Amino acid sequence: MDKSVFDQNCRNCPRLAGFLDEVKDRYPDYYCRPVPPFGDETSRFLIVGLAPGMHGANRTGRPFTGDHAGILLYQMLHKFDFASHGESVAADDDLLLTNCRITNAVKCLPPDNNPVGAEINACNAYLANELQLLPKSSVVLALGGIAHRAVIKALAMRQADYKFAHAAVHDLGNVRLLDSYHCSRYNTNTRRLTSEMFADIFAQARTLLQS
Ligand code: SF4
Repeated sequence: MDKSVFDQNCRNCPRLAGFLDEVKDRYPDYYCRPVPPFGDETSRFLIVGLAPGMHGANRTGRPFTGDHAGILLYQMLHKFDFASHGESVAADDDLLLTNCRITNAVKCLPPDNNPVGAEINACNAYLANELQLLPKSSVVLALGGIAHRAVIKALAMRQADYKFAHAAVHDLGNVRLLDSYHCSRYNTNTRRLTSEMFADIFAQARTLLQS
């Protein structure tokens, strides 16, 4: 069985591969490939987002880098000593993550930020392999319901037993899954997720990592 956590040449989702080709024609300088996980490969803290954003990770090649969704995330990572800087500008800047890694449930840019079920399922094998590599007593932070359900699926758990809820913690054996609303522009602009709420999530993650 393939144990890879990522394949830069993967084109298993025809709709997404075709969309990346179209976007590359429109924006030749954009990265437009599956976006690799970023951060400390030995860490016990894995953050799972949804998918690359058009002008963010899809442009720069690093998760949550270069668009609005990453602003609050990297501020929090810095505030809680997981990141060397409070912003992520480009894949070749000198930002370092310590005891933390970031990945996406779907590694390729989906049209309208909306992957279909078959695409989430196709990419789930990479996430499953990534979760299997986590050390004992790890903490997984799921940003949004799709990421939450992708983690449950990747661990072969029953969705009905673990419902997404902001700030909920689910004991999944080797890992504890912590849920948060996604730090998207929509959620932060509407104050569904405020800075204070997100800081509370990171404080909760720190506490879980110490227990
Ligand atoms: S979303 Fe995942 S499975 Fe689908 S083409 Fe991209 S890397 Fe491959």
